[in-house]
Amino acid sequence: MSKRNQVIKTCLEIDKDDNVHKAISPEIVMTSSFYSENYDELVVNSQAEFDHYVYTRGMNPTTHQLEKILSKLEGGERCKVFGSGMGAISATLQTFLKSGSHIVVVNTVYSTTMKYIKNIEKFDVSYTVVNSHDEKDILAAIKPNTSIIYMESPSSQKFEIINIKKITKIAREKNILTMIDNTWATPLFQRPIEHGVDLVLHSCSKYIGGHSDIVCGAVVGSEVLVREIEKTGYLMLGSTCSPLNSFLAIRGIRTLPVRMDKHNANIIEVIEYMRDDPRIDVIYHPYARQRKLSEEVLEGYGSLMAITLADKDTERLKKFVDNLQTFLIGVSWGGFESMVLPSFKGEYTQTMKDRGLDITHTRMFIGLMEAEDIIADIKQALDIAYYKI
Ligand SMILES: *Cc1c(COP(=O)(O)O)cnc(C)c1O
Repeated sequence: MSKRNQVIKTCLEIDKDDNVHKAISPEIVMTSSFYSENYDELVVNSQAEFDHYVYTRGMNPTTHQLEKILSKLEGGERCKVFGSGMGAISATLQTFLKSGSHIVVVNTVYSTTMKYIKNIEKFDVSYTVVNSHDEKDILAAIKPNTSIIYMESPSSQKFEIINIKKITKIAREKNILTMIDNTWATPLFQRPIEHGVDLVLHSCSKYIGGHSDIVCGAVVGSEVLVREIEKTGYLMLGSTCSPLNSFLAIRGIRTLPVRMDKHNANIIEVIEYMRDDPRIDVIYHPYARQRKLSEEVLEGYGSLMAITLADKDTERLKKFVDNLQTFLIGVSWGGFESMVLPSFKGEYTQTMKDRGLDITHTRMFIGLMEAEDIIADIKQALDIAYYKI
């Protein structure tokens, strides 16, 4: 069986281990706590809280099913699911960062992740941001006290990809832990553990959930590293996923392969149209800007992208956004619906300038409608806001 077919099979498999009633759909074990039959059982359970069901802020059967699926999809040994992507990211960083250590942050990472890293400066953790996908620049940022390289590839906002393998090779030699946010690609299109990354992070609120109805996150890695996160970042910070949300994430995973195929087909069609429309300036997406490297590192394309407009008038930008009929205006992405989010919200912020974002930088998420209808919509909104071509 090919790697791809194996991943699809994993998305569809039923977990029979915990399946008391032989249900096809996972049971939602909506409980805070679990009782022990007797004193001896209590002792056994308490001594290994992450191997037995004791309390849902430790382990829960529905959430554990999701953990097993995600771990297998990413090719890891163990997974921990959290109440949100940020729950997973902050707990993972907090587990491994030490006072006096340094972290290299690669790419325009998710904005709240960046805020978290800036916030822990007060615990004497320093950081260097490398907004380059050239591994020479990334490696040049490594200092003697660097303990973590944190990557996002493709990155938020600019969707630039890096050659993960080249980074992890050097990191291993220098004993530096590597982490990557793999939300954009999903394990269908990129499995970073196969390229030597130590820990893979996900916001399951996006493609994995897939229906815009949950907030959930996860980390996947080796048994040793994930157990370390469980003991500290997970148990103590308490970002617990509701068993109901874990159920919805598993339900989302059942259709992840077919949804990702559609997103992949749609984004290529949309970009092919956009390249020929002179009213669009830059297209930020690996298919548009890093095709060669994409073919080496990605097995398909996610449909989150950004554009800038040729005309830098923000009143026209506003008109463009307001006249899109099939896009909802708002944050988040990964569901069935298309979404649009301009970076400029009445102010050309310092953060935008620092990240090298144009005043018309606008994020677009291409949903599951037919590409020709999405393209027609973008065209008519541009016609109203700018000029007909
Ligand atoms: C949304 C997102 C996150 C944060 O996840 P939440 O589930 O919203 O906490 C992290 N990384 C990326 C790339 C995201 O898009």
